[in-house]
Amino acid sequence: MSSEIVGDGAIRRTSLYGSCPENTYAGVLSFMRRNYSRDLTGVDVVVSGVPLDLATTFRPGARLGPAAVRAASVQLAELLAFPWGFDPFEKLAVIDYGDCWFDAHNPLTIAPSIVDHARTILASGAKMLTLGGDHFITYPLLKAHAEKYGKPLSLIHFDAHSDTWPDDNPDSLNHGTMFYKAVKEGLIDPATSVQVGLRTWNEDCLGMHVIGAPWIHAHGPEATLDRILSIVGTNPSYLTFDIDCLDPAFAPGTGTPVAGGLSSAQALHIIRGMGPVNLVGMDVVEVSPPFDHSEITALAAAHIAVDLLCVLRNQKVARTSSKA
Ligand code: MN
Ligand code: MN
Repeated sequence: MSSEIVGDGAIRRTSLYGSCPENTYAGVLSFMRRNYSRDLTGVDVVVSGVPLDLATTFRPGARLGPAAVRAASVQLAELLAFPWGFDPFEKLAVIDYGDCWFDAHNPLTIAPSIVDHARTILASGAKMLTLGGDHFITYPLLKAHAEKYGKPLSLIHFDAHSDTWPDDNPDSLNHGTMFYKAVKEGLIDPATSVQVGLRTWNEDCLGMHVIGAPWIHAHGPEATLDRILSIVGTNPSYLTFDIDCLDPAFAPGTGTPVAGGLSSAQALHIIRGMGPVNLVGMDVVEVSPPFDHSEITALAAAHIAVDLLCVLRNQKVARTSSKA
């Protein structure tokens, strides 16, 4: 059993399940100290990074996001998950697959490389939880998910920005236009998609529902959660969390911060309520460590990612017990 292993479980643990005694701040800092592996056999969720920041419109640095979120995540690997009260990895098989490789100096090959990365993982039946990277990465990820799960998907999009600026250049690398393209290509269904936390002006969100940050501050996270659940229903849904959805006080380390955002507590409340959603894919993007302080932003991203895994853990347990 994996508990016989002490330290560096990421490269020494023999089981996909469970945790082992570790100095969690030391050794190989895989995401939540999961097995660092490319073997997809029996895996429920693959965590991988896409270290891209060539599509940013303002401050770069998100290429360093996956490494920073991994390093911050190990703080959460010491104890049982809160407020869940369990180790999600006792029931959910999660690996750290490492990072997507692409040729940063050959820009037109980047999106296809990300699609291929996702296709390989999704073909195994595992779900993906991807660490960005700038938000552009969600576009090729959506293509691969729509191929696997059928289009259109519903999108649950946390962000300060709509990312729906008009852009009819199929080759552009732009982290502000992906969802314009995704709607136009039919990858996502605007009528059952929702953008959460917006606080930048855009006349045209292409028919997607918008729950702006001021509304959330006025009505609270529980009412926000209710609205999200009623919009997406049980449709196959892709959840993307741009860390700039959080206020700069909670996420200073990001490319395009905007005041007036959600607190970590508000965001975690909403994420923890995603249990009824048919989540087919997830990402957490736009962490830019050079602009971070004391790992605030990376830690917030790690918390969101771990809570998403706890939601998936509960969904798996509910599925298995309903089959029994
Ligand atoms: Mn944003
Ligand atoms: Mn964004």
